[in-house]
Amino acid sequence: MSETAQPARRGLLIILSSPSGAGKSTLSRRLRGWDPRITFSVSATTRPPRPGEIDGQDYHFMSVERFRQTVAEGRMLEHAEVFGNFYGSPQEPVEKAINAGHDVLFDVDWQGGQQIRESSLGHQVVSIFLLPPSIAELAARLRARGQDSAEVIAGRMRKSRDEISHWAEYDYVLVNEDLALCEEHLRAIVTAERLRRTRQPGLVGHVKALNEEFEKGVGI
Ligand code: ADP
Repeated sequence: MSETAQPARRGLLIILSSPSGAGKSTLSRRLRGWDPRITFSVSATTRPPRPGEIDGQDYHFMSVERFRQTVAEGRMLEHAEVFGNFYGSPQEPVEKAINAGHDVLFDVDWQGGQQIRESSLGHQVVSIFLLPPSIAELAARLRARGQDSAEVIAGRMRKSRDEISHWAEYDYVLVNEDLALCEEHLRAIVTAERLRRTRQPGLVGHVKALNEEFEKGVGI
């Protein structure tokens, strides 16, 4: 099939959820490195920017009024309030990206995942849940990451039980034991989902061209 005969594939919304420390950020980065057509969804937030954070790149920084307005107009794919600040995924940049044939990766919890699945772009969603090999390993990874205090880690561990309880709501579930193997499986999922018949708009034209060849007597 020639490139010109193939209309741009509409991108996927790839939802990656897991308890904190199971490897979401690591695997998101690797997936992005594997294929630059995969982009991250940049979240909107009402919290103030931290030093060095760039608007539109790290977050879309918004006032509370603008955030509320965007939600009221149905232009957030998902949103949540965390410690008094609002966070959400604006729909417009995601729509632009998928219409240009890019896949968009969402690093969200089960509630975010549920809202995106129920949104108007839900038919493009592929959802993947990452499980840790064990709870002991999950705690060890959080400690080894060296990013959080013991208190924050304890909070993350308490929340992880609730997050894990939603594993069965996802299309795919991977146990992130061996990182390289998990990455390979993630790539396989994305490749297979891109090849679904219903996601290949060029196929109808391609089969038509094959039939035209039959009619001309080609190959007989
Ligand atoms: P999350 O984004 O889900 O909170 P991270 O991607 O930050 O998790 O991973 C937590 C820590 O565990 C990081 O230090 C990361 O390097 C490490 N890690 C991720 N996957 C594996 C794995 N399969 N084996 C060992 N360590 C891992």
